[in-house]
Amino acid sequence: MRKRIATILAAPQRGEQLQIAGWVRTRRDASGFSFIEVGDGSCLANIQVIADQTLTNYGDEIKKLSAGCSVLVTGTLQESPAKGQAVELLASEVRVLGWADPETYPLQKKHHSFEFLRNISHLRPRTNALGAVARVRSRLSYGVHSFFQERGFIQVHTPIITTSDCEGAGEMFQVTTPSAVSAAEAAAEFFGRPAGLTVSGQLQAEVYAQALGNVYTFGPTFRAENSNTSRHLAEFWMVEPEMAFCDLECNRQVAEEMLKYLIRLVLAECSEDLALFDHFIAKGLLARLQQVVDHDFAHITYSEAVEQLLQSKHSFSYPVQWGGDLQSEHERYLTETIYHRPLIVTDYPAAIKPFYMRVSDDCRTVAAMDILVPGIGEIIGGSQREERYDVLVARMQQAGIELSGYEWYLDLRRYGSVPHSGFGLGFERLVQFVTGMANIREVIPFPRTPGFAPC
Ligand code: ATP
Ligand code: MN
Repeated sequence: MRKRIATILAAPQRGEQLQIAGWVRTRRDASGFSFIEVGDGSCLANIQVIADQTLTNYGDEIKKLSAGCSVLVTGTLQESPAKGQAVELLASEVRVLGWADPETYPLQKKHHSFEFLRNISHLRPRTNALGAVARVRSRLSYGVHSFFQERGFIQVHTPIITTSDCEGAGEMFQVTTPSAVSAAEAAAEFFGRPAGLTVSGQLQAEVYAQALGNVYTFGPTFRAENSNTSRHLAEFWMVEPEMAFCDLECNRQVAEEMLKYLIRLVLAECSEDLALFDHFIAKGLLARLQQVVDHDFAHITYSEAVEQLLQSKHSFSYPVQWGGDLQSEHERYLTETIYHRPLIVTDYPAAIKPFYMRVSDDCRTVAAMDILVPGIGEIIGGSQREERYDVLVARMQQAGIELSGYEWYLDLRRYGSVPHSGFGLGFERLVQFVTGMANIREVIPFPRTPGFAPC
């Protein structure tokens, strides 16, 4: 029977006849037989295949196998005398499905830099690190759904093509048709108004929250921001829950609980892959993640954050002053140097936050919340939404927003408006945090950044 290596190694049954299908990692010859390491992507570990010289294709094929060749191996699982593996597969047949010319195959056994691997994004998932990232990412994605589904949240598929730009979130890519003279014209022709790729599903999620209570959306978002950093992509995935009858405090609790749930999940279920990251990518990662799930997040207001940054006497490239946005260096100083753990910052100045955030009684701040984590900075941005019609309209006018495009959004405040909150978790930043990968380009299968989208 054909089996995945992960399944075999989870409960090895010595003496079992089985078949594996995968790619050769290495081949080593001994006298009278060869060791072939075969991996199939189901887990980090490979299985060692013992191919004896009595196999009919031993001389013609088996002895020519090299890294990257694909094979189908049938054999018997047996106790392995070698250290570091419980079982090995004694082959009765090794069928070569596809050759990989060792002269040209780019993934030789030597160490490759992540920069090099980015240029072969069609082959890089075959490396240990990128394969591990893919498995952890998949588990996290499933975990996002289980977290919300277990709590009765309803998933909403918000549109990818949108005509409202969730003001303040970022630059929109325009959606056009081939016959367009100008982009705006094409969009106007097709949808009757300019359209773009969504920068956030929030506004539409709010619609459903105010009908179904607790909802979430989890999908791709696009921002044409020209920021070439290790934490920005032009296309990234966002997890956006939106909760009716929920204030900022409730929002905060859900966000902290979700992050802890997801980290606990991968600690329990992706231990082999996380051990690889801990060993080769980010020393001490496992201990740091355990710390995160074991302790409460810190919580301060924006005003307190500004005060603490000023008191630190640290010299920053961007000045710190009340009313200015916290820069990445400020965020990281707070969470890494002052608090050494995830930090929730709330109550930002109204002037630097979008119109939909709820204005506080002091009229200077809004009920905003960012969650900052060591190594990354902002991982979550959220807020309680402005549910009061008059206040919302005033804020939109102040921001110079054309009300006519947002009548539907205002209707939600005209008819049965309720307090509600939500947040956006950058899914790649979460994968970065959990794996310790330094650059966001390594945690999405096919990164898109300014000037870069090869396949
Ligand atoms: P930043 O200040 O880091 O650019 P932001 O404040 O513009 O982020 P939000 O609009 O609050 O981001 O989006 C919610 C979350 O989405 C962020 O907390 C972050 O985790 C993630 N995010 C935002 N922009 C990007 C991007 N360009 N690439 C990857 N993730 C992003
Ligand atoms: Mn933000």
